[in-house]
Amino acid sequence: MKIDVVTVFPEYLQPLDLSLIGRARERGMLDLNVHDLRRWTHDVHHSVDGAPAGGGAGMVMKPQPWGECFDELIPADAKPRLLVTSPAGRPFTQALAHELAAEPWLMFACGRYEGIDQRVVDYAADRMEVTEVSIGDYVLFGGEVAVLAIIEAVTRLVPGVLGNAASLDDESHTAGLLEAPAYTRPAEWRGYEVPPVLLSGDHGKVDRWRREQALLRTARARPDLLERLDPGSLDKRDRLL
Ligand code: SAM
Repeated sequence: MKIDVVTVFPEYLQPLDLSLIGRARERGMLDLNVHDLRRWTHDVHHSVDGAPAGGGAGMVMKPQPWGECFDELIPADAKPRLLVTSPAGRPFTQALAHELAAEPWLMFACGRYEGIDQRVVDYAADRMEVTEVSIGDYVLFGGEVAVLAIIEAVTRLVPGVLGNAASLDDESHTAGLLEAPAYTRPAEWRGYEVPPVLLSGDHGKVDRWRREQALLRTARARPDLLERLDPGSLDKRDRLL
């Protein structure tokens, strides 16, 4: 998978050198490049922003550097899927992460200040698939943290990036439920015990316990997920809960 990130703070993306993403890059599974938007400025101050049209507080990222950036990074015969970070965008979910993991090339535009001039999005949308994407109903200083979260969620779904692909099977948000709580050794720690069923060696009972805990945890923490759950995904024993 090819990933390009365009930002005015390339240093913010340094965690992408670390851990499993760093290793996937070293192994050539991810061709990930971070670009400084100021490279496409021409004034001595390398300015990327201007006062908002119509007045108001803050500054807006001007279109010219973005346009020249697209001209240089995107050849005429290949189009990335462009993700523009915005608190006004489509909510980022595990379903969208799966959708993006199937793309060969993702390009991320990190907004700053009051955001990016809307014409950048409109111009790009006439040339490639563009998704404005939000990581939650709150406002960050910039898109860099959002991009880190999205890249992490997407790349762990790319085959081979995660050491053990089975880890993806029963995760929270995979089948509409939260995952059951996890435990490790020792069996007793500061008076708190691992639930005995997990030490029983009975895989059937362990699976049933995990299923019940997943349902209970979802009901307590995210009842909205239970309401949206496909009734066909429940079995008779679930209904007895
Ligand atoms: N004025 C904008 C608004 O009210 O919609 C907010 C701009 S915000 C201060 C600056 C940049 O941070 C945005 O352009 C976007 O790139 C990023 N950003 C902030 N919150 C975000 C969120 N929840 N999800 C994704 N990106 C976000």
